[in-house]
Amino acid sequence: MQKPRKHNLRPATLMMGHGYDPALSEGALKPPIFLTSTFVFPNAAAGKRHFEGVTGKRPGGAEGLVYSRFNGPNQEILEDRLSVWEDAEDALSFSSGMSAIATLFLATVRPGDVIVHSGPLYAATETLIARVLGRFGVHFLDFPAGATRAEIDAVLAKAQTGRVALIYLESPANPTNALVDIEAVRASRDAIFGSGPDAPPIAIDNTFLGPIWQTPLAHGADLVVYSLTKYAGGHSDLVAGAVLGAKRLIDPIRAMRNTIGTITDPNTAWMLLRSLETLELRMNRAGENAAKVCAYLRDHPRVEHVGYLGFLEGDRQADIYARHCLGAGSTFSLFLKGGEAEAFRFLDSLRIAKLAVSLGGTETLASHPAAMTHLSVPDARKAALGITDNLVRISIGVEDPDDLIADFAQALDAC
Ligand SMILES: *Cc1c(COP(=O)(O)O)cnc(C)c1O
Repeated sequence: MQKPRKHNLRPATLMMGHGYDPALSEGALKPPIFLTSTFVFPNAAAGKRHFEGVTGKRPGGAEGLVYSRFNGPNQEILEDRLSVWEDAEDALSFSSGMSAIATLFLATVRPGDVIVHSGPLYAATETLIARVLGRFGVHFLDFPAGATRAEIDAVLAKAQTGRVALIYLESPANPTNALVDIEAVRASRDAIFGSGPDAPPIAIDNTFLGPIWQTPLAHGADLVVYSLTKYAGGHSDLVAGAVLGAKRLIDPIRAMRNTIGTITDPNTAWMLLRSLETLELRMNRAGENAAKVCAYLRDHPRVEHVGYLGFLEGDRQADIYARHCLGAGSTFSLFLKGGEAEAFRFLDSLRIAKLAVSLGGTETLASHPAAMTHLSVPDARKAALGITDNLVRISIGVEDPDDLIADFAQALDAC
C-alpha cells in the first residue's frame, strides 16, 4: 500500500492557528492578550530550574514563561508564526525595527571589531553604526549595494585589520532601491572566513520585500531583520521589529534582549498576529497595484523615470533581481520632470495618497526624501545616492488601482 505523502501546510494557512492551543485559553478561538508582568511558578524547584536555564548553569536555555521583559504568550505565538514565512529555526520580536537592529549589534560587537555593511542603509541604522557604535571603538567598512563578487572580496579582505563581527546588508537599499547580491556576499564570506561558527554572520534587513517577495535565508544570509512596522504590520498602526535565523545565532541576541528589555509588548504582538493572517493577501494586492500604477507612470510625459524593481532590464541589478526576488514590491521612486517645486505641487495635489513617511501600509503614501527623511544628508552624498529634488518616494497600498491611477493622473496635471 502506498504511504500518504506528507503535505506541508503553507504559511498563509498556518497564520490562522500555528503556535496557539485554544484549550490553554478557555477555548478562545483567538489568543487573549496576556496583560501580566510576571508568571507564577508551579513550585520553588521549577523557579530554580528556570533561572539555571537563563543564566547558563544548565544547558538548554530558559523554559516556560517567567517575566514579561523576557517573553510572553502573545510574543511567542508571533515569533513562531514569523519563523514560518522564512522557514527560520527561531525568531525574536522587538519593540521596533531599530531596537531589533540595535539589540543584534549589541549582542555581536566588541571594541576594535569591524562591521562590514552594504550602503546605503536606512538612515538610523547608519547613525547607529557610524556614530553610536563608533563611540565604543567599533569600526565599519562599506561597499555599494550593487557591488560585484570581486568588489565584496576586496572590502572583506581589507576589513581583516580587526575582528569582523558582522556583515550587515539591506536589500533593496533605502531610498535607492539598489539590490545586494546576497549569494555573492555569501560566497565571498565563505571564501575568506569559511562557514564555521567563527565566521562573521551575514544579517540582512528584509523590510522592503519580505517575506513574500524575498527570502534571504534561502540565498545564504544567516539572520534576517525586519521593521514589522511596514508590510508585516501593514496598517500603519504599530511599531515593531524582528530578527529571524538559526537558534545558535538567535540565542545570544535573545540574552541581550532579556537584559535590556527591547521585546515587543503583548498588545502589539496580538495586532501583528491579526496582520499576519492577511499578509499574503495584502502584499499580493499592493504588488499588483504597484505594477499597474508604475506601468501608467512610466509613459507619462511629466515623468522622467520610474525606479521600480519590475522595470530592471539587462544589467547586473536585473540579474540580482532574477536570482533573489519573487516580486517587485510596492515601494518605488518617481523622478518627475523639474525640481522641488514640481515635486511639491505633485505631492500637494494628491487626494488619495497621503503625504507621510513610512511604507507598506494598506494606504498609499508619498514623500520627498531630499526635503524630509534625507534632509540632513550632506549634498555630495545625496548626489552620490541619486536623492534629487525631483524624487518622490511612493508606497502603494491596497486601494482600487484605477482610483490610484486617476489620483496620480490629476496630480501630474497639476504640476
Ligand atoms: C522603517 C525601517 C527601519 C526601522 O524600523 P522602525 O520600526 O521604524 O524602528 C529599518 N529598516 C528599514 C529598511 C526600514 O524601512
